[in-house]
Amino acid sequence: SPTPLTLLGTGDMGTALARAWLAAGHPVTVWNRTPARAEPLAAEGAVVAASAAEAVAAGRLVIACLLDDASVGETLADAELSGRDLVNLTTGTPGEGRSRAAWAEARGARFLDAGIMAVPPMIGDPASGAYVFYSGSAELFEEHQTTLAVPAATRYVGTDPGFAALHDVALLSGMYGMFAGITHAFALLRGEDIAPKEFAPLLVSWLNAMAPAALETADKLVSGDYAKDVVSNLAMQVAGSATLLRTAGEQGVSTELLTPFLRLMERRLAAGHGDEDTTGLVGMLTAATG
Ligand code: NDP
Repeated sequence: SPTPLTLLGTGDMGTALARAWLAAGHPVTVWNRTPARAEPLAAEGAVVAASAAEAVAAGRLVIACLLDDASVGETLADAELSGRDLVNLTTGTPGEGRSRAAWAEARGARFLDAGIMAVPPMIGDPASGAYVFYSGSAELFEEHQTTLAVPAATRYVGTDPGFAALHDVALLSGMYGMFAGITHAFALLRGEDIAPKEFAPLLVSWLNAMAPAALETADKLVSGDYAKDVVSNLAMQVAGSATLLRTAGEQGVSTELLTPFLRLMERRLAAGHGDEDTTGLVGMLTAATG
């Protein structure tokens, strides 16, 4: 029979998760700091606990989906965690995942950190492509994998409790680079007689065509040879990027989103790496912070 579970936090994401588990027949105990936000779930069959400690006492599998790591610490401060399996679906940093794991283990719990790669409407819909990164206790993951897979597909990325957050944040960071490019592209067109809705599909297919560059970067990071099989070398890219800057100037568009990356390419070229692609920039970023 479906495993009973406790869910702390019935915000937008927590509510979507609770609904998926309830629909699959799991007995669900919920708690939310603002009780009114848990009430709709009571009507759908969840038991609403009066306190977080009471919710944690209800069963072994405890899932937290709160605002941030600090709210997890606050919520669980008075809870008896000994013998519990704590799964943290709250977004955090790798460091927060690691220290929360040590904190939970010191209280006698097994711990799994997680990063949700979905928005609430995707939860509980197997066709949505939603999935969740998990890292930390392999035993906990194996034991509860079927239950965890109810709201979204699971992807276990290792025993280091920081790895789920690291995967999550690395994907989101790549996404913000893309958002920056989209923002700059539309700024270039602003005020011109080019329909945004006609341009957008062109931008989407161009970005899709360019995205596999990540696979080439990975190949080069592994081989260590950044100049092998280079399609667009840095010397050519730096020369070409002057056109991007002049165009921004002509259109009256700020280059603040564009220049940080172009400056890195110029520095790598100046250091004598004009025959490589952009893979060498990865090491420049880590060298800059030690
Ligand atoms: P909401 O803002 O809808 O909900 C936040 C939840 O955290 C509420 O239950 C809130 O309680 C609770 N909370 C905040 N501060 C505290 C505190 N100090 N003590 C106890 N409870 C607290 O956010 P979501 O539900 O959308 O997000 C929850 C987690 O899921 C976040 O870590 C978020 O990053 C992650 N996530 C969300 C996604 C999304 O698209 N929504 C996508 C991927 C991950 P109260 O109702 O009392 O304020």
